[in-house]
Amino acid sequence: MQHTIADKVFFNGVGLHSGVETKLVVEPADINTGIVFIRSDIQDFAPIPANYANVVDTRNCTCLGNKNGQIISTIEHLMAALSALKIDNALVKVNAPEMPILDGGALLFYNELKKVGLIEQSAPRHVLKVLQKVEFKDDKGNYVFLEPDDNFSIHFIIDFPSPVVGHQEFNNVINENIFISQIAPCRTFCEKSQIDYLRSIGLIKGGSLDNAVVLDGDKILNPDGFRVNNECVNHKVLDAIGDMATAGLPVKGKLTAFHSGHFHNNQILQTLFANSSNYIIEEE
Ligand SMILES: [Zn+2]
Repeated sequence: MQHTIADKVFFNGVGLHSGVETKLVVEPADINTGIVFIRSDIQDFAPIPANYANVVDTRNCTCLGNKNGQIISTIEHLMAALSALKIDNALVKVNAPEMPILDGGALLFYNELKKVGLIEQSAPRHVLKVLQKVEFKDDKGNYVFLEPDDNFSIHFIIDFPSPVVGHQEFNNVINENIFISQIAPCRTFCEKSQIDYLRSIGLIKGGSLDNAVVLDGDKILNPDGFRVNNECVNHKVLDAIGDMATAGLPVKGKLTAFHSGHFHNNQILQTLFANSSNYIIEEE
């Protein structure tokens, strides 16, 4: 059956890019609502379903937009937490154009939602079953593909020049236990050398060692180091879980990704949905 949360859940924090102090509330919603985002600071805001077709920007984060050009960005970490908890229906109300980054991962979102608990609803849950392999490659050789699988699984590969990252792979089924222990704690990361550039174009105003891993040559600048092994690739997995949740239904399929990001995650869903013989929607 479908699920929503048992009560409202509140979060406060700064946006990673905007640096603006932001209030967020996740509220229960009726059956077949899906996850819907609303800007509480804009009157008569046209609500935005968290659907791949409503993604308007994938540079540095996943950003939703409505027909009036109003946006909500950095939705992917909350989306991943909702997906791991199998919360099908919820309203997400935020009073700024960007979601709070909290600690850079999804564990705080997960923990607060879990504390409130879920309600079973009176409609069956549907899944999106991948029937044949679809792929997307960019002109730099980065790629992502989605193929049939009995579960939702991810194989993610990164190769970073930084010696503290290097080659990292994650290859596993995504379930709630793996999400909590290996994925949700993993933070956004960047190179120290990128910071000045990102600041110069008005980004990461809310970024700090409290919500991001910062790499500097063969060092990591965060005093406590990494939270889990392979934190960098696992954060890419976290982003991919959140982005795949914009399919609008839980995905039954395996995502394989090499050096890809939010853009590729969106493109693979566009490719999947472009041909109805690629998938079937069925009761879980
Ligand atoms: Zn992320």
